[in-house]
Amino acid sequence: MCEGCGIELLDQKLHSTFGRELAGEESRLAKREWEQKLHILQALVAPLARDPSGLAYALLRRFGALNAALAADERDLLSIPSMSLRAARHIACIHEALSICLRERVQHKPVIKNMTNLEEYLKIKSGWKQVEEARILLLDQKRRLLDDHYIRRGSVSKIDITISDVARIAVQWNASSVILVHNHPSGDPQPSLEDINFTSKLSHALEIVGVELHDHIIVAKNRLLSLRSLGCL
Ligand SMILES: [Zn+2]
Repeated sequence: MCEGCGIELLDQKLHSTFGRELAGEESRLAKREWEQKLHILQALVAPLARDPSGLAYALLRRFGALNAALAADERDLLSIPSMSLRAARHIACIHEALSICLRERVQHKPVIKNMTNLEEYLKIKSGWKQVEEARILLLDQKRRLLDDHYIRRGSVSKIDITISDVARIAVQWNASSVILVHNHPSGDPQPSLEDINFTSKLSHALEIVGVELHDHIIVAKNRLLSLRSLGCL
């Protein structure tokens, strides 16, 4: 990767992120932050890449953000020509380690008292995925997090979650309440009409098997929205 190409990419990226040319201190801070991300990515892939600098640039060019690069699926990572299978698995492993560290901060703790930690965990785990996926957080009687269970993934804009998917897992785990979580790859956490209708149907269906739907959270990159806080529950 030539230095000139890097600067050009950096300027393009900053312009597309902020929608305008940056000037002065604002530009210096944004460039420093961008360079920091490049250096981190470069160091992460260094043991597994012939050209770590080029691969770091390619990752940021393809995924746009450090979080998105780390959360990328193996198949998407391998779409970068200079990416080896070992390097892709190394990146996935780093993302998983990060997720586990954040989950440990809420595991077996009441979610209500640890909402900030839970939100940080969900943003890293699901917020930057490029296709929609659904997870269910299983809570005990004291609303402590028992486990985080992956349900299924869909496309960029749609996922088909069924009530039986959620109910089966909740009953299997003997959960008292659950939080349904899904992501919006668009970056907009506003619920669709389908999301709102499904939340209501799921809540009633779970009541029949003695499980409370504590919340339905939509995570979109670094933003998060609770359907309970919107009055949908
Ligand atoms: Zn949705």
